[in-house]
Amino acid sequence: MDCIFCKIVKKEIDAKIAFEEKDFLVFFDIKPKAPLHLLIIPKKHTEKITKELPGKMIMLAVKMAKKFKVENYRLQFNIGKKAGQEIDHLHLHFLGF
Ligand code: 5GP
Ligand code: ZN
Repeated sequence: MDCIFCKIVKKEIDAKIAFEEKDFLVFFDIKPKAPLHLLIIPKKHTEKITKELPGKMIMLAVKMAKKFKVENYRLQFNIGKKAGQEIDHLHLHFLGF
């Protein structure tokens, strides 16, 4: 499948990895829009939000806030092209200030 984030998961494309666990990967956004801009993704290619995923992704964001000692941050899902979504693979933006 021609998905940039799947390629990052498979390490076919380089990304600066911030954290990795069995089902999720966190890496630095290539064009940061905040002093700390992370992307939190399920490793399995997923396009739709399911009941379980957001909670797990948000808890990972809380973990990243602790890891990077950031107290001020915004979490953002862009869903749909008009909302700014460029990559179909579900991802949560972590914008840390
Ligand atoms: P979206 O606009 O789909 O919500 O967010 C996609 C994000 O992925 C953008 O902020 C963009 O900068 C980031 N991005 C796109 N391609 C790459 C890449 O190859 N590597 C990394 N690390 N980030 C990427
Ligand atoms: Zn994918």
